[in-house]
Amino acid sequence: MASPDWGYDGENGPEHWGKLYPITNGNNQSPIDIKTSETKHDPALKPVSVSYNPATAKEIVNVGHSFHVNFEDSDNRSVLKGGPLSESYRLRQFHFHWGITDDYGSEHLVDGAKFSAELHLVHWNSAKYPSFADAASHADGLAIVGVLVKVGQANPKLQKVLDALKAVKTKNKQAPFTDFDPSALLPSSPDYWTYFGSLTHPPLHESVTWVIFKESISVSSEQLAQFRGLLANAEGDREVPIKHNNRPPQPLKGRTVRASF
Ligand SMILES: [Zn+2]
Repeated sequence: MASPDWGYDGENGPEHWGKLYPITNGNNQSPIDIKTSETKHDPALKPVSVSYNPATAKEIVNVGHSFHVNFEDSDNRSVLKGGPLSESYRLRQFHFHWGITDDYGSEHLVDGAKFSAELHLVHWNSAKYPSFADAASHADGLAIVGVLVKVGQANPKLQKVLDALKAVKTKNKQAPFTDFDPSALLPSSPDYWTYFGSLTHPPLHESVTWVIFKESISVSSEQLAQFRGLLANAEGDREVPIKHNNRPPQPLKGRTVRASF
């Protein structure tokens, strides 16, 4: 089996991505450390509106560096609107980032503070582009909602996802995952920050309008540990757990982070 050309450890780690992906050192990379004193309140920012149809949940897949829950995106049944967006963006998938211990794992930081994990809900601009793949390389192509996750009370809304992980223990395994509304994983406060950035792993396209909710959600330490039980190897190969998959914060390079609040 060919080894992937990027990862999160050693010579494949984030500090080496630039050799194969020059945009690694671009002007609009993600994630970032959100310095709240430098954010700018924008009264023109509208509330974010999500409308997700549970019937569009399709499958769960082990992608080797994380797991994706994929959604049917051939129509507008599950969309993100409002906020900083001028179009409607279709839900494509959600996934998480985590760390080796509970002390870190989020990709975005707030005033230097690390959270234990981060949820990303990935949407694409279906008003303007014919497919996710097309949208992913255009500046107005993607919108990702980020939710910071801290360790505390167990989160019953996450249990269905955790129960599905055992069916996709190794790389490239997939299983049906249906009847799920991921808005159940969003915090109750509507307050968010927004800025223009990138995918947080190769190909690192600078095509993402980020919406990061100010309020975090909670999961238990035991729930988080189940993410680390996933394997990066294919079935039958030497077992390599996905222990962590978070890119460190990148330079802001003059960008403004706007706040809805
Ligand atoms: Zn992500």
